[in-house]
Amino acid sequence: MDVQTPLGRVNTWVEAFAQALETRDLEKLRQLFATDCHWRDLVAFTWNIKTMEGRDAIAAMAAETLPSINPRNWQIEGEPTEANGITEAWLTFETDAVRGLGHVRLNDEGAWTLLTTAQELKGHEERKGPTRDKGVEHGAFRNRETYAERRAREAAELGYSKQPYVVIIGGGQGGIALGARLRRLNVPTIILEKNDRPGDSWRKRYKSLCLHDPVWYDHLPYLPFPDDWPVFAPKDKIGDWLESYTRIMELNYWTRSTAKSATYDEKTGEWTVIVDRDGEEVVLKPKQLVLATGMSGIPNMPKLPGMDSFKGDLHHSSQHPGPDAYDGKKAVIVGSNNSAHDIAAALWEAGADVTMVQRSSTHISRSDTLMELALGALYSEEALANGITTDKADLIFASIPYKVLPAIQKPLCDEMKKRDADFYDRLEKAGFKLDFGADDTGLFMKYLRRGSGYYIDVGASELVADGKIKLAHGQVTEVTPDGLKLDSGQELKADLIVFATGYGSMNGWAARIISQEVADKVGKCWGLGSDTPKDPGPWEGELRNMWKPTRQEALWFHGGNLHQSRHYSQFLALQLKAREAGIPTPVYGLAEVHHKG
Ligand SMILES: Cc1cc2nc3c(=O)[nH]c(=O)nc-3n(C[C@H](O)[C@H](O)[C@H](O)COP(=O)(O)OP(=O)(O)OC[C@H]3O[C@@H](n4cnc5c(N)ncnc54)[C@H](O)[C@@H]3O)c2cc1C
Repeated sequence: MDVQTPLGRVNTWVEAFAQALETRDLEKLRQLFATDCHWRDLVAFTWNIKTMEGRDAIAAMAAETLPSINPRNWQIEGEPTEANGITEAWLTFETDAVRGLGHVRLNDEGAWTLLTTAQELKGHEERKGPTRDKGVEHGAFRNRETYAERRAREAAELGYSKQPYVVIIGGGQGGIALGARLRRLNVPTIILEKNDRPGDSWRKRYKSLCLHDPVWYDHLPYLPFPDDWPVFAPKDKIGDWLESYTRIMELNYWTRSTAKSATYDEKTGEWTVIVDRDGEEVVLKPKQLVLATGMSGIPNMPKLPGMDSFKGDLHHSSQHPGPDAYDGKKAVIVGSNNSAHDIAAALWEAGADVTMVQRSSTHISRSDTLMELALGALYSEEALANGITTDKADLIFASIPYKVLPAIQKPLCDEMKKRDADFYDRLEKAGFKLDFGADDTGLFMKYLRRGSGYYIDVGASELVADGKIKLAHGQVTEVTPDGLKLDSGQELKADLIVFATGYGSMNGWAARIISQEVADKVGKCWGLGSDTPKDPGPWEGELRNMWKPTRQEALWFHGGNLHQSRHYSQFLALQLKAREAGIPTPVYGLAEVHHKG
C-alpha cells in the first residue's frame, strides 16, 4: 500500500492497529499513537463514555478491556481525506458484543485522535428497513386482536401487571428521545411526566421563546423535522412536535404523573418508584432509573431580605408568564444571560421600562455569526449539500475530544470578535460587561463547562447597546416594597422583578426524588473539570455523570440540548439494552466524584 496517499497511510495504520489489538501488544499500540493523543470511546470498549488522554491511559484501558471486548474486523469506510497535515478516516469494527463505527485523525507521529462508538448490539439490532415488522399477520383468525387493541393492552398492562425494565423520570425532549430509542430496542419503558401534555416543558416557558439553535442541530432521533420547518422553531411548535412524536413513536408516556420518590434495593437490584398518576398512587419496580428531569429544571432562586414585602410581581425566569401585563410598567431583570435577554427584549417590545442587572460579565455570540462560524460546517443546508447528514455531523462533533476543543474554539472566537468588533464595541460603550470565556474560547466551552454565562443574540443586544434596555451592575442586597437595592447602593424601582438567575445541578433532582445521600454519592452533573469559573477541577475529560454509569448502580442522567439528547440517547439506550439483554457490561474507568453539587 502506497503510504504517500491518504488511503495508504490510513490503511497502514489500521492494519498495525488491528494487529496490536489482536496480539495485545501494548507497546506497539502505544507507538501507533502520537505523543499528544486522545482515544474517545462511546460504549464500544469501556461500556462507559470515556476519553483516554495520552499513551499511558490508552495502554491502561486496552490492557483491561481487550480480553473481554475482542475488537476485530477493522475496515476503512469511504475515502480518507487530508488537510493541514492531518489524515482523517472513518472506520468500522466489531467486538464480541457490538458493531462499531470509529474515526481516526493521523498526524506524522501516529493517531492524534481516535473515536470508537458502539452502533448496535449483536443479536439485538433495531428492526428497520429490510428487517422491519410486517405490521399484520395475513390470513384469517378468529378474535383477531387489532393494532389499536394491542397497543391499548400494552399500555394498560405496563406498570401494573407487567413491570417496565426502565423508568425515565421526565418527559421533556430528553426523556422522549431516549424513550424512542428504547422502544426501537424493545426495552419495556415508562416515561413519567408531571405536566398535562408532552411538550409542556417548552410550552410553559416565556411566550417569546424560540429555539436558540438552528433546525439542522435540533432533530429528534429517527424522525427529522420536515424541510420547511423554521430555522428557529417557536417553543409551542416544538411542544406540539414532541407531543406528536410520543404518539408516532408509540411511547408509554404517562402524563400528569409525578415521581414522588425512588429507592434502590441493592439486594434485588430493583428500584421502587412511587408515582402519583393523576391522583392514583402507582408503584413501579424498574431495574434501571433514568433522571431526564432537565438541566434547566431546578431554579436558582436567591433568598433575599425583603422579598415578601415586594408589592409587585416577583418570580424566577422559569415562572415568567410573558410581557403582556407589563405595558408601561417598570421591570427589573436580575441576570444577563439567555433568559434575561429574551425576557427583557419581550418586555421592551410590550412597552415596559426595562432594566437589566448585570451581576458578572456575560459572553454574547450573535446568532448569525455563530451559525456561520461554529455550526455551519456541520449543521446547515450547506453541510447537507456536502453530504454531512445529521448522524455524520454528530459523530464528527463527538470525534473531537474535550481536551482539544478549546484550541479549536479559540480561533473561531477570535474571528467572531473581529467580525463583530463594532457590535461588541457598542455594547461595551453602553456599559455591558463582556467576556469571551475564561480562556477566550467562547460560547460552546461555556456551555460545556458550566451551562451558563452567555446569550445568543437574536436582537436584545441591540436594545442594550442603544440604551433601550437599561443596565445596572452589582449584586442585589435587598428587595424593598417598591424595587430592589444593589451593593453599589443603587436603588431600582420596579413593578416586576424577574430573577433570571439560572438553574442548579441535575443531581439536585436525585436529592429531591431519591435522597441527599444518593445525590452526594453521584455528585455534580455536567461540566468538564476545566478549573474555570463554575467548573472546578480536577479535569474529568467528559461531562460529569451524563449518559454513562454513575456511582449509584442503575441510576443514569440524561439531558442536554436537542443535539445532545438526540446523539447521546443512542449510547445510553445501548447501555440499558445491554443490561436488559444480560450482555456483560464491565465498566472501565467509572469516574471519581470530586464535587457534591
Ligand atoms: C429559556 C430556555 C431556552 C432554551 N433554548 C434552547 C434551545 O434553543 N435549544 C436547546 O437545545 N435547548 C435549549 N434550552 C435548554 C433546554 O432546557 C433543553 O434543551 C431542554 O428543555 C432539555 O430537555 P430535557 O428533556 O432534558 O429537560 P426538560 O425540558 O426540562 O424536561 C424535564 C421534564 O421533567 C419533568 N419532571 C421533573 N420532575 C419530575 C417528576 N418528579 N416527575 C415527573 N416529571 C418530572 C418536568 O415536568 C419536565 O417536563 C433552553 C432552556 C431554557 C430555560
